[in-house]
Amino acid sequence: MHSSLPIWEIHSAIVDQLRTGNRLVLVAPTGSGKTTQVPQMVLDAGLAGDKKIIVLQPRRVAARTVAARVAWERKGKLGDEVGYQIRFDDHTSLGTRICFVTEGILLRWLQENRNLPDIGMILFDEFHERNLLSDVALALVKHLQGTQRPDLKMVVMSATLDAEPVADYLSTDKQPCPILISEGQSFPVEVRYLISHDERPITDQAAEAVEAIVNSGEPGDILVFMPGVGEIHSTINASRSVRTNERLAFIPLHGELQPEEQDLAFAPNPLRKVVVSTNVAETSVTIDGIRHVVDSGIARIARYDSERGIGTLGIEEISRASADQRKGRAGRTAPGTCHRLWTESGHLNRPERNTPEIQRSDLAEVVLLLHSLHIRKAAAFDWLDKPDAQAVERAENLLRMLGALDESTGELTDIGHRMRRLPMHPRYSRMLVEAAKLGSVRSAGLCAALVSGRDLLQRLRREDKHISEARELFEASQESDFFTLMRAYQFAKKNNFGIETCRRYGINAQSARQVEQTYDQILQIAEQQKLLKPDEQSDDTALLRCIMAGFIDQLCIRRDSGSLECDLTEGRHGTLMRESVVQNAPLFVTASIREVPSRGSENLTLLGLASAVKREWIEQMFPQHIKVQVEHLFDRTHKRVAAVKLIRFCDLVMAHEHQRDL
Ligand code: ADP
Ligand code: MG
Repeated sequence: MHSSLPIWEIHSAIVDQLRTGNRLVLVAPTGSGKTTQVPQMVLDAGLAGDKKIIVLQPRRVAARTVAARVAWERKGKLGDEVGYQIRFDDHTSLGTRICFVTEGILLRWLQENRNLPDIGMILFDEFHERNLLSDVALALVKHLQGTQRPDLKMVVMSATLDAEPVADYLSTDKQPCPILISEGQSFPVEVRYLISHDERPITDQAAEAVEAIVNSGEPGDILVFMPGVGEIHSTINASRSVRTNERLAFIPLHGELQPEEQDLAFAPNPLRKVVVSTNVAETSVTIDGIRHVVDSGIARIARYDSERGIGTLGIEEISRASADQRKGRAGRTAPGTCHRLWTESGHLNRPERNTPEIQRSDLAEVVLLLHSLHIRKAAAFDWLDKPDAQAVERAENLLRMLGALDESTGELTDIGHRMRRLPMHPRYSRMLVEAAKLGSVRSAGLCAALVSGRDLLQRLRREDKHISEARELFEASQESDFFTLMRAYQFAKKNNFGIETCRRYGINAQSARQVEQTYDQILQIAEQQKLLKPDEQSDDTALLRCIMAGFIDQLCIRRDSGSLECDLTEGRHGTLMRESVVQNAPLFVTASIREVPSRGSENLTLLGLASAVKREWIEQMFPQHIKVQVEHLFDRTHKRVAAVKLIRFCDLVMAHEHQRDL
């Protein structure tokens, strides 16, 4: 233990509060010892009895590295007294008392083992980040404590001072929730902005800032913040050519590295370290010796993507609060500098703090989780910050359309239960549930991976004629644009994702690499859930049915044969993209609906990523959508909202039927 860390100054207050009460909010700056010390304090004070102490971490890298650190401080082996559990990686044993876990793991336990009988205390770490899953976990644990587990203790830990609302949320009439604050210690950090906006790639600018720091003669390690793996590697490549006499150790830090590679960032190094990291180093982990921060000012942030109807990560500017956290990383042990790769006036235009993720992202997966815990009214649940009502409704509609929720009772269906076991967006879990039935998990998993990231194929302009000709190589079928993507991906993989080769075919090599990683993860989940059969032999029809299963709410019917004009559900209409290979099928689903401004007053709705489907498949796989219409005809009082929407959906199919008969 490191009793010289600032958090130890309030040690007795922490222990006293948790001995008498069961809720506490703890505020202390990063580096003061919240994550590594507080779990040990409560364990040694016997505050969790003989039960486990769980520390929730938003990131997998953090869960693993801080667990290793705490095990080392206690002179134990990782996995004995101190362990961690993240997806695909469980380092705990029966004797584990302090366990660092990601939020997804806790949510899974809540589903399997409602009352969490062997857990005595839960620490919500990094709560200032306001991740979707940490908000959900906090609400669920508060609910559990208030109903079945009054003995369960909960501590919310935050690096910023916005703790009042959390404490209010956790207070009851009988027992207010106390806030304990540790001032911590820090040294002044000098902030330097760009003089004027710089058009060059951010990775080159970062390399230049590193060069300037090294050549200024100021000592100390350097921490560079980049939004993702690709940018981290480009920055390191660009930095290798900096003009300086000093030898430097460039070290990447992100969640996709092997554990030994992650450890390099924390290990002492004879050379000056330049650690290039995602925002895991913003507050989650502390690297000793950092005196300079180079901040790109951007991060991957989760949002609802209306184009694909899923949640995605997009690159966005970070808030001023995040930028200040990053700056603080330079002043922990001595005065430092922070180089912001944006201008001072640009800084003032940034939002002051991050909006909680629950108010901006896709909720389909969370609403499905809540249903599996018998919480049917997600919007009315006791949240710290309520999610957007429209977003909840959109999520519920999608789940109903996918067949995860029963039309009349609103309960989870058998399909819904199976979907819930797969930790991924409900569109993809619905695809996989179908694929498990039809024996096409491998190819359906690839399709899911192909839509989940950024565009694999670049959108072509008129002057890209040579690319569009080259690309015909991938267009083997008129049934689905997914088939084209699959071939393009396989081509990129066969060529080791070579940037030059990919560029000639208009393939984004970096996206292709990302697809490979997502695909691996999906296959691992499928394997864990025993969905994969060794002798899988998928055919095109099976795959088309799986794609339809995930995008059934985005069914389209072509107005006339050969036309690009289509009708969608709920009275919407759109235009199929000219590039689509699906130029004949009368009925198809789309995995991309994009609104673009057009010359007229209304926006144009462009439909992409099409896959031909058949009416019989809808009847077989989604009989409820057909049935509701019949019920509606005979019983006008029946479930209005759901029914009306589905009726239109059926009308559409009926209209198609009618057309075919003509
Ligand atoms: P907080 O959670 O308040 O940000 P931590 O508990 O993560 O603080 O870190 C407290 C201190 O422990 C850091 O300032 C650092 O000196 C030390 N420390 C934490 N993790 C490591 C590690 N992996 N290697 C070396 N030192 C570490
Ligand atoms: Mg911490």
